[in-house]
Amino acid sequence: MSDPIDLLSLSRIELQQWVEMTDKRFRADQLYRWLWKQGARTFDEMSNLPASFRERLQNECKLQTISLSRTQTSADGTVKMLFLLASGRHVETVLIPDFDEEGDPSRLTVCVSSQVGCAMACSFCATGTMGFQQNLTSGEIVDQVRAANDVAVSTFGQRITNIVYMGMGEPMLNYDAVLGSVEKLTSEDGMGLAARRLTVSTVGLAGRIRQLAEEEYKVNLAVSLHSPFDDKRSSIMPINRKAKTDLTALMESIEFYTQTTGRGITYEYCMFEGFNDSVADAAELSKLVSRAPSKVNLIMYNSVSGLGFNQSSENNLNLFIARLVKDRVRVTVRRSRGQDIDAACGQLAVKHSTEV
Ligand code: SF4
Repeated sequence: MSDPIDLLSLSRIELQQWVEMTDKRFRADQLYRWLWKQGARTFDEMSNLPASFRERLQNECKLQTISLSRTQTSADGTVKMLFLLASGRHVETVLIPDFDEEGDPSRLTVCVSSQVGCAMACSFCATGTMGFQQNLTSGEIVDQVRAANDVAVSTFGQRITNIVYMGMGEPMLNYDAVLGSVEKLTSEDGMGLAARRLTVSTVGLAGRIRQLAEEEYKVNLAVSLHSPFDDKRSSIMPINRKAKTDLTALMESIEFYTQTTGRGITYEYCMFEGFNDSVADAAELSKLVSRAPSKVNLIMYNSVSGLGFNQSSENNLNLFIARLVKDRVRVTVRRSRGQDIDAACGQLAVKHSTEV
């Protein structure tokens, strides 16, 4: 007997193909809605499907989902969730609330993981120290969002508003599953979220950026830059050492992306004390990012013990911002969130895997 098919990992077209081997197309549509609109995670819940079809599902399929194994809540409201995958490995997801002046949440962002560990080995990142362990399925990515949405509703009385693919892993190295999750999150038969609420973040895989430019989904793109100089960038991001993903190739792919989509991008720039936070760095950054419509998001780095990077001082941050503003670069600052709960990328999962 062959292994059961994980229905949650199939794209809509794959699901249709499987259903249509013996049943009508509309059964696939019903099944898709049960899985992604209603969020059914047992076949028994699918009450409008005939018993014979449910029996086929029971016999040939499985629903490989994730289970919440730990939650930590920060004093600033950030909620970090650790999920157990079917493989026995753990992955983390963060719910980040932003509050308005009345103290009500104005935005509820979920940061999802796309891989366990990461092969990119960026030297400032906790996940990078784990190496690559596995890709998540599209279903495992969407189920992080569903679980975080439940937490958002029970904790803040509101649904999530934004999703960023900035957790563990490099989304572009798990491209099909990431795009599959976008389909389920944005389709009307799925969670029905607006694509402009989703941001896929990459360390800068130039070929994939070009590919994403030509996809039908109008998600946002964020690129982790962290230095405008090839030598410095290569010293902390090994991906930059390859000719097809160095700064020259990356910037060409970004120009292609913005011209093809008509949308700007966001550069993520972690501020590391004494490494990339001088006015000279800011001046070079201005030149680079002005090549395509964009904004720069400066991130106040959450230090990870043993990795040797510290957060920039407020003085350096202010001088850096002033230089960017002088050059008419759009700039925002993201303060570290959840500092009391190991909220740097991958920290909770790294801690957990070394504890068990
Ligand atoms: S920063 Fe992102 S791409 Fe780099 S090692 Fe960490 S998870 Fe991977």
